[in-house]
Amino acid sequence: MNTIQASAPTTQHTIEADWQLNSICNMKCGYCFSTTNPTIARSTVIDPARCLEFFDATGEVWSLHMTGGEPFLTSGFVKLCSVLSSRHFLSLNSNLCSALVRDFAEAVDRSHVQYVHCCLHLEERGRLNLWKALEDNLRALTRRGFLVFASQVMTSKTFAVFPQAAERLADLGVVLIPKFLQGLFEGKWYPHAYSEKEKAVFCTLSEEAEAGLRSLTPLLMQQRVTVNPLRDREFLSGFPIFRGVGCSAGARFFTIQSNGNIYRCGSNHLLGNIEKDIFGPLPPYTPCDSSYYPYFCLRYSELAQSPSGATLIPLEVPPSTGLQTIYGLVRIGRKVLKQVIS
Ligand code: SF4
Repeated sequence: MNTIQASAPTTQHTIEADWQLNSICNMKCGYCFSTTNPTIARSTVIDPARCLEFFDATGEVWSLHMTGGEPFLTSGFVKLCSVLSSRHFLSLNSNLCSALVRDFAEAVDRSHVQYVHCCLHLEERGRLNLWKALEDNLRALTRRGFLVFASQVMTSKTFAVFPQAAERLADLGVVLIPKFLQGLFEGKWYPHAYSEKEKAVFCTLSEEAEAGLRSLTPLLMQQRVTVNPLRDREFLSGFPIFRGVGCSAGARFFTIQSNGNIYRCGSNHLLGNIEKDIFGPLPPYTPCDSSYYPYFCLRYSELAQSPSGATLIPLEVPPSTGLQTIYGLVRIGRKVLKQVIS
């Protein structure tokens, strides 16, 4: 089969959303909120044609970041992507284990896919023997000219095995970027809990990954990726707190949940629903009253727009031990509840 030269989409989107299609996954990573129940695939929220009508009717060209859980476990996912990519832009966040990745590579208009972000999850990848599936899928995507990068969440155990995994992916033309842990993991609060040595290694690996991207897949550097792990090394002492600052999330950026609800970010400020055909954005730069996912703040908060802005904001500090315990219990409770419901 002929290899297609990778290229970045030439037209631009006008508005963006992070679409969490489900919260199920075939992997059981300790740092993730997803639950494992891969035998039950979630239906798409709505018929793909009606979804397309909804996005068209807003008068905007959307960039839809399709994520989960694991998006390929949503039934009808490839069809949904194929329909939406006829007029809007997509990007994926996936562990790329599914055989459906090859169908996606064939069926979806590559010129409307901005990039594919592969989450490697080394421990689970090894435990479930899923390297071969990944390599086959990466070959299928890169052969068809999709822009692909990978990231690995850095637990203490991962530092030693990261370089070997990065080499293995580089052989396929894919760069591996370290991504830091956030919040409570194995009784410690991250990224603050990384040792000074781990922080130094993290920065080196991240800089090497950035250099790799510039030489192997320079077109990816032109994409404003929704979740950009290359920025993590700037915030190893904690992300800034953007609360109270004007933010264009809710006006130019949204999160969409699996039931089609549209929010400003996370599940904060319900602004619409795909199935009910409702969409009412906020005025631009409404002050932030949340702290959902700092990658979005770095893109849309007014303060993050100026080069010195983010440095003026106080940094998040780890909560007290008591609060961390409560947070951990709530997280376990939520996971158990989701497992029961699914
Ligand atoms: S949490 Fe971040 S993305 Fe959401 S409104 Fe606040 S600054 Fe904007």
